[in-house]
Amino acid sequence: MTAQQLIGLDQKHLLLIENNIELIGQKFQCHHEVLVPLAKLIRQSEIDGIPLRIVSSYRSFEQQLAIWNKKYYQEVELNLRDGSSINSQDLDGEARVKAILNYSALPGTSRHHWGTDFDIFDACAIDQGYEVQLLEAEFEEQGPCGNLNLWLEQTLATYQFFKPYLTDKGGVACEPWHISYHPISHSALQEFPVALLTQTIQEAEIGGKQFILPMLEQILEQYVFNICDTDDGV
Ligand SMILES: [Zn+2]
Repeated sequence: MTAQQLIGLDQKHLLLIENNIELIGQKFQCHHEVLVPLAKLIRQSEIDGIPLRIVSSYRSFEQQLAIWNKKYYQEVELNLRDGSSINSQDLDGEARVKAILNYSALPGTSRHHWGTDFDIFDACAIDQGYEVQLLEAEFEEQGPCGNLNLWLEQTLATYQFFKPYLTDKGGVACEPWHISYHPISHSALQEFPVALLTQTIQEAEIGGKQFILPMLEQILEQYVFNICDTDDGV
């Protein structure tokens, strides 16, 4: 991937998937080398009776910026690590930036820019009218995705996928719904263009910029490079 692609500014590495019967008509964008392994994973999930659905796939820098600015500027409940939540406007600027980072990536640093990472859910729950929230409790044993979670544990590695946010390492909070295709995303992280990101943030209209820029290096260490990588034996 090019530096532009790695921070969500260019889409040439992506395929748009829609109306594909094998993929149950799901519409999403993914990295062109991820389609086949992803299709195999989804097909296996159908065979095993735990059909997985993609809730979120590729996001551009602009889309991530819209998510970020909404959380920064508007009255939005931010989920905190202890399971509680707080209105974003009740936090001062720096605390607000840190609270947003628990669950939302700084634009340019989202793994969703790569087309290798997906938020997934159990189709059975969705088909029964369950409204997806992407909460840890949904993936616990008794939750609507408890079965899917067990299945993922046994199956992901076979298809070279992994969960970068399997456990809370003090960066991004635990996200059991987020899966990543390791062969591509591993090198994406190693090639991450820090200089281009810095320049792009400097030029972006992003809420909290004056707090973000001085701690950009720390944000990268804590939230971007600090993942549960299968290569580390985690
Ligand atoms: Zn995700």
